[in-house]
Amino acid sequence: MAIRILPFTNEYELHLMDESKKIGYADRIAFPRNAEEIAQILRICSLEESPVTVQGSRTGVGGGAVPFGGMVISLEKMKNLRAGSSGDSVIAGAAVPLEEINRFVRKMSKGTLFLPPDPTETTASAGGVVCCNSSGARTYGYGPMRGFVRRIRVVLADGKILDIPRGRYFAEGRRFSLTIPALNGEPFRLETELPSYTVPEVKNAAGYWIRENMDLIDLFIGAEGTLGVIAEAEFSVVEKPPMVWGLIAFFPEEDQGVVFTEALKAIDDHGCISMEYFDRGSLGLLLEKQSEMKGRLSWHVPEGFSEAVFLEVAAEDKEHMAERIHVIEQEILHAGGDPGDAWVAASGLSFHSFKELRHATPEAVNARIAEIKKVQREITKLGSDMSVPADKLPRTLRMYREDLRKAGLDFVIFGHIGNSHLHVNVISRNKEEYDLGKSIYAGWAKTVSEMGGSVSAEHGVGKLKREFLRIMYGDDGVSEMRELKKVFDPKGILGRDNIFLWKND
Ligand SMILES: Cc1cc2nc3c(=O)[nH]c(=O)nc-3n(C[C@H](O)[C@H](O)[C@H](O)COP(=O)(O)OP(=O)(O)OC[C@H]3O[C@@H](n4cnc5c(N)ncnc54)[C@H](O)[C@@H]3O)c2cc1C
Repeated sequence: MAIRILPFTNEYELHLMDESKKIGYADRIAFPRNAEEIAQILRICSLEESPVTVQGSRTGVGGGAVPFGGMVISLEKMKNLRAGSSGDSVIAGAAVPLEEINRFVRKMSKGTLFLPPDPTETTASAGGVVCCNSSGARTYGYGPMRGFVRRIRVVLADGKILDIPRGRYFAEGRRFSLTIPALNGEPFRLETELPSYTVPEVKNAAGYWIRENMDLIDLFIGAEGTLGVIAEAEFSVVEKPPMVWGLIAFFPEEDQGVVFTEALKAIDDHGCISMEYFDRGSLGLLLEKQSEMKGRLSWHVPEGFSEAVFLEVAAEDKEHMAERIHVIEQEILHAGGDPGDAWVAASGLSFHSFKELRHATPEAVNARIAEIKKVQREITKLGSDMSVPADKLPRTLRMYREDLRKAGLDFVIFGHIGNSHLHVNVISRNKEEYDLGKSIYAGWAKTVSEMGGSVSAEHGVGKLKREFLRIMYGDDGVSEMRELKKVFDPKGILGRDNIFLWKND
């Protein structure tokens, strides 16, 4: 049956935006139910050279799912979910949200297996987390989504449907010379040189991920939908640790949280699978939210602290956990905190409330931006996503704070300190502050790139951080990415202007 392509009307207004709060426009929209229907749409768009914007759950914060003309493909109908044949994987249609995958895996394995990457936004879709190589807090213990993607079914711009399992198609050095059977017709001949830039050894989701002798599946992971549409993904699931507790340590002085995490990282066997940081601004925002909600929240932040660190700690049993918590408490003390101020959650509701508190931070930032945007239309979320080599973290955090204070900007800093990856969010009240914040970020992009870091560790480049990618890899690196895209998508219809401008700027 032919797929219905609908004119874009006000009814679909929500499809013009993602969590970046950038607003776009579109001509048409379609809701395919399977890979074959995606292929039909792409064949039409290829013929017409019409740009295509693919949407999962639109929780992305880089504007990648925001259309600027052409066709929107919303994958929201692709919600098939089943167990893989070997019992240690799950196969999800593009739109299945992470929370559903996790529920399914829990049931399938009677609570013994899980999919570790936890980008905090549990409504993010299976296709979206592959395309963004999503991460989150537990990436400290388990690495990003990449390591868990076992197979993808991808539809190329010309409508070819390919199955790409991990471990089957490899580059020789920096060259792919392969023939890949298509599920719907002629095979795909891939003959290309790979870009020559070096991908930094930090947490990274900026641009195409390139390695010598790389696996082809890794090229699609993190490509932000610019090389193909992911119709389905198979994820490996792994054994849950026997016991995971949560701990939040509060510190009265700035930098004590950093000293604490640095000391923990230096211990061989601390058991932490995540380490999350909150600065004074984040705690202030949470306190405000707390007062607005008048006790209707599952968490309660104490007043008078400058920093906090949330840990997820894994252990074999209660005794082992007690030992680990003791070591952590000693480090809280050494860093200048009081273990008596720390909260420990063994399981169930209280542990869940810690996770909610963590998620409330970016949510509060997004809500604040949405509020400001009602009067200042041109303002979007201004959040950084840079990672640095571990030894550079303390001075990078100092740089963030000093630059923003000198400029008189309001800001919050939070996130994945375990991976030396903190999100800075400038809360700009007007266009002048917004522009000032942007120019400060551009300066950091340069400094962080020179340090061997990444301008985007997990959110991707989307449409908001193209300039930063250029700073990171230079004009030549970006041109090489554009040439590589042409091999998969010669007319540049897919995710046009995501990661880099399609037309040479
Ligand atoms: C409050 C909040 C907190 C967050 N915290 C984190 C965090 O800690 N870590 C983290 O990594 N992310 C985080 N995110 C970002 C976000 O959840 C992830 O980037 C997520 O992976 C996007 O999934 P999605 O389905 O919403 O994708 P979308 O936003 O719909 O799309 C994202 C990009 O992928 C492309 N795309 C989506 N699906 C497909 C597909 N099937 N085929 C081809 N292209 C596709 C889109 O075109 C777009 O370029 C957070 C977001 C919010 C709102």
